[in-house]
Amino acid sequence: MDYNALADLLFPRITTVPADIEAGYPPRQLPEGAKVTRIAPSPTGFMHLGNLFGAIADERLAHQSGGIFYLRIEDTDQKREVAGSVETILNVFRDYELNFDEGAVLDGDNGRYGPYRQRQRAQIYQTYAKWLVQQGKAYPCFCTEEELAAIHEKQAEQKENFGYYGKWAVHRDMPFDEIEKRVDGGEPFVLRFRSEGSLEHRVKFNDLVKGAMEFPENDQDVVLLKSDGIPTYHFAHVVDDHLMGTTHVVRGEEWLATLPIHLQLFQAMGWKPPKYIHTAQLMKMDGESKRKLSKRKDPELALDFYQRQGYCVPAVKEYILTLLNSNFEDWRLANPDAPMEDFVFTTKKMGVSGALFDIEKLNDVSKNVISRMTAEEVYTLLSAWAKQFDELFYALLTRDPDYAKAILAIGRGGKKPRKDLAVWSEAKAYMDFFFDELFQPDYTAYPENTLGDVRQILNDYAGVYDPADDSGQWFERIKALADKLGYASNMKDYKKNPEAYRGSVADISMVIRVAVTGRQNSPDMYDVMQVLGQKKVLERLRKAAEN
Ligand code: GLU
Repeated sequence: MDYNALADLLFPRITTVPADIEAGYPPRQLPEGAKVTRIAPSPTGFMHLGNLFGAIADERLAHQSGGIFYLRIEDTDQKREVAGSVETILNVFRDYELNFDEGAVLDGDNGRYGPYRQRQRAQIYQTYAKWLVQQGKAYPCFCTEEELAAIHEKQAEQKENFGYYGKWAVHRDMPFDEIEKRVDGGEPFVLRFRSEGSLEHRVKFNDLVKGAMEFPENDQDVVLLKSDGIPTYHFAHVVDDHLMGTTHVVRGEEWLATLPIHLQLFQAMGWKPPKYIHTAQLMKMDGESKRKLSKRKDPELALDFYQRQGYCVPAVKEYILTLLNSNFEDWRLANPDAPMEDFVFTTKKMGVSGALFDIEKLNDVSKNVISRMTAEEVYTLLSAWAKQFDELFYALLTRDPDYAKAILAIGRGGKKPRKDLAVWSEAKAYMDFFFDELFQPDYTAYPENTLGDVRQILNDYAGVYDPADDSGQWFERIKALADKLGYASNMKDYKKNPEAYRGSVADISMVIRVAVTGRQNSPDMYDVMQVLGQKKVLERLRKAAEN
């Protein structure tokens, strides 16, 4: 077979050769040890935790080593493409502050190793495909879907491995004349790789997380270019990661199955493969058993879930770091205030098997993260969330920003800050009683033993309450009121001899709390009353007493 003639027949319009392409992709000038990583999402409109999981690892590996982190859009599967996805991808990574050094941007590219959208690289792939044909390493296959289905059926009958290989690779040795006739007749074809691999032989490989691995060689004549000349993932990523100088590929472990194909392609091209890191699947507990997070069953797999719920970016990132690196949690305990970029991320601490995603754990991380923020920071993030997801709440928060910030300052700062907020969507229920528009008191929440005394407690308290008190004086007044009404002002006395009292100072406080906040749980009452102010406190005491 004259492979040069075959190459010209299949690719008459490709006049470039690999050297022309290579000239446009000079080796990167980076410091020793610098890693070049990328994320390569397909624009399907669905961004999931796995995307973020990989991206955080990629970003850390690159930026910790003085390397490059870039975005490549893998848009070779037009059927799955959803309009606007590139924008979604860019927005998500911007929100998570994973900054690309280069890659696709909204209206084009940023960087000299592009284009960064695979469909725009068709000529590049075809140049290499033509070159493979010239070496006899690739050939056209004209099989229709029906013909392939028939092969599949026969393989099932004969209990043979499925696929296009060996004797089943029916167009592998088609004579030139016949190929020419079919091409001239306009018959569509895909370009297949001519595999020299055998299942009898093993390929060895070292995954940076999973360690030394071994697989049977690939014996399938996989498709390199589809009939429209657009490459498959296998071929496209090999070409791109080579040209773009990727040193480390972080991707889901579902790609391990086809890794022998990828290694084989790198070898056929004469290129050094990047280092691979196949990340563990994200799992969750379902009752007693673990299972993979599923798009259909688990809303928390989709990244927009976190946005809607109002998880803050650093919380989600911190939690993912705890999943990615087993020593992150200890580091955080030892360095509660350090920026997370100070943590030294390493592939050595990545888990080999399924990472268990636990939303309760995320909530705890989130509470910690939010508890370390200033009231000003909380206000900024909360109001930005509310602007998008709760207009009424947004209007209340921004009507008097100082008031909102004073509310958010309660219990903040100091050694033991309150940890009551995990997500912004909980904030309204946490602080609604500060706003008359949202205040819906539950006057059934008074302690049983106070029911006969509520009115008197509230009226007497309204008479002595003084907003100028400090917190010590404030509590003294409540204790005095307890004594006056036959409630123990000292808890020890009360516990020793409960029969001697109508109740304790805790009951008196609870009555006031229910009247002022409308419920049994609230942040520190002294602080709450300071923020509400005299007018509102008295109004509420009166309203409750009348009820
Ligand atoms: N486009 C592939 C995907 O969507 C990327 C895999 C990779 O990172 O190589 O999963």
